[in-house]
Amino acid sequence: MRKVKLGRTNLMVTKTAFGALPVQRVDMETARQILRRAYEAGINFFDTARAYTDSEEKIGYSLADVRHEIIIATKSPSGTREKVLQDVQTSLQKLKTDYVDILQLHNPSVLPNTDDPESAYAGLLEAQKRGYCRFIGITNHSLPNARAALESGKYDTIQYPFNYLSIPEEQQLVRDCEAANIGFICMKALSGGLITDARLPFAFLEGFANAVPIYGIQRMAELEQFISLEQNPPVLEGELLTLMEKDQSELKGDFCRACGYCMPCPAGIEINTCARMSLLLRRSPFAPHLSDKSRAMMEKIEGCLNCGRCKSRCPYGLDTPALLRKNLEDYRQFYAEAMQSNQ
Ligand code: SF4
Ligand code: SF4
Repeated sequence: MRKVKLGRTNLMVTKTAFGALPVQRVDMETARQILRRAYEAGINFFDTARAYTDSEEKIGYSLADVRHEIIIATKSPSGTREKVLQDVQTSLQKLKTDYVDILQLHNPSVLPNTDDPESAYAGLLEAQKRGYCRFIGITNHSLPNARAALESGKYDTIQYPFNYLSIPEEQQLVRDCEAANIGFICMKALSGGLITDARLPFAFLEGFANAVPIYGIQRMAELEQFISLEQNPPVLEGELLTLMEKDQSELKGDFCRACGYCMPCPAGIEINTCARMSLLLRRSPFAPHLSDKSRAMMEKIEGCLNCGRCKSRCPYGLDTPALLRKNLEDYRQFYAEAMQSNQ
């Protein structure tokens, strides 16, 4: 497997890395088979998070005996020093290890004050000092936050949604990370499930030598496809280029980064969750999304006032009300089918 230097961490990670969010959806033994196969095929970088229910536990269960041959990144969603330290200790226990390679702050809506000794950032530094992690990073869905994190120089890695639906300013972020020697980890290389032909993002990312995609994998067949693509990396030309351009024109409007810039909504709609519900239903455990609370949240879309505020605020040019409506229709259908199969 080809390896990439992850910025100033100097970690040599495989260009095809494993995103362990979707393994929440499979049982422990299936997860083990998939994770072992990934390891045996040469994938050495596994990204998980405290917030991904049992994902860390599945990695610990499957890969503890080869811990020193792999690179593990996890995330803390907490906003204080003390809680970040608690989270990482829980992560270590679940992962059956005494350190992670990268500890990331998980998508904070506001970047922590790096001078505040009680901040989440101070928690990262203390975790590093205690040897719980080797390097520190941050993940974010917001371009200005990701850019501010890069410019602060305080983080070794930045994780951000990136694929061929991304806008030029996002491509520039990747290039600027490379110039600053900051590791760039791409989440949503398949756009959270919108992109269905894995050859395309694979070929696209060949043009970004420093970018390390963590492909969310939940089925052996998906993993096998990535392994075979890695053996014969596709080139972005001819048919592939045409397919990518077609996707770009058809899907660009559906790629919600969950950044929340379009909010608040006067009708109380949780746009940054509702506008990507179709993907959440299929890429994370779906049961919580079918609760009465989630259903009520989705049904609020009916109360949209068509004020257009969200659309005018979205920096990615999405037709947010139309996207919400599309997600609501899909949600209703998914819900009805789930209820029927429960009977
Ligand atoms: S158009 Fe609808 S969803 Fe968008 S801000 Fe207005 S009320 Fe909210
Ligand atoms: S609709 Fe646009 S602004 Fe709102 S969360 Fe999605 S990407 Fe962000």
